[in-house]
Amino acid sequence: MTEPLFWQQLPVKLTYSRRKTIALHVKDSQIEIRAPLQTPDHFVQDFLATKTPWLEKTLAQQQLQVRQRVDYCQASHIPFMGFNVQLIRAQARRASWQLDEAGLKCYLPGESDNAVLPLLNDFYQHQARFWLVKKTHALAHRLNLQMRLSDIGFRNTKTQWGHCTNQGRIQYNWQIMMAPESVIDYLVAHEVCHLQHLNHSSAFWQLVHSAHPTYNQDRRWLRDNGHRLKLI
Ligand SMILES: [Zn+2]
Repeated sequence: MTEPLFWQQLPVKLTYSRRKTIALHVKDSQIEIRAPLQTPDHFVQDFLATKTPWLEKTLAQQQLQVRQRVDYCQASHIPFMGFNVQLIRAQARRASWQLDEAGLKCYLPGESDNAVLPLLNDFYQHQARFWLVKKTHALAHRLNLQMRLSDIGFRNTKTQWGHCTNQGRIQYNWQIMMAPESVIDYLVAHEVCHLQHLNHSSAFWQLVHSAHPTYNQDRRWLRDNGHRLKLI
């Protein structure tokens, strides 16, 4: 008997529908095959077998990404603008945080590990409102684009770090504050340059390059490490 492949120990969800082709989806270690109605079993098996290398790679990548995330409930340090800030928990009647040279003090009413999450969320949001607003205005001013900037907003989006509308409204995901400062500056440059070019043309990238010369390596860092920055 051959050793079962590790994905063979994971349940595979099989759904049939009125579709023309067979497809494989993997999300959060859940494997799903979507097949046309009346697809024979052996066909599904063969299809899965041909996808083994891709499946192993994808599952390993997804599992690695989950493991690489900071466990904020247990963490002794948190990432903040390239610094590894010590997290100091203390009991208090009301939840609050305070940042000083010793680290980030989190005052928590309860003992639960999860209680620190809303506080950290508040901390990063607060920092984002200060730093990203300041950096965005400074760069928009330097590039002579301040007249096109109408508003700066914040939200927690799963897929996007930043967004710029044709009305000149820039939105950031405040969790970018966990990234090194040059990566934060790249994101700001990216969104501010959209005030000039609302596309990803070569003229846009040239402007990003002149605003933030290390944009290429910072962009790559964000692509390779962005998944680790998620707080919730
Ligand atoms: Zn863009």
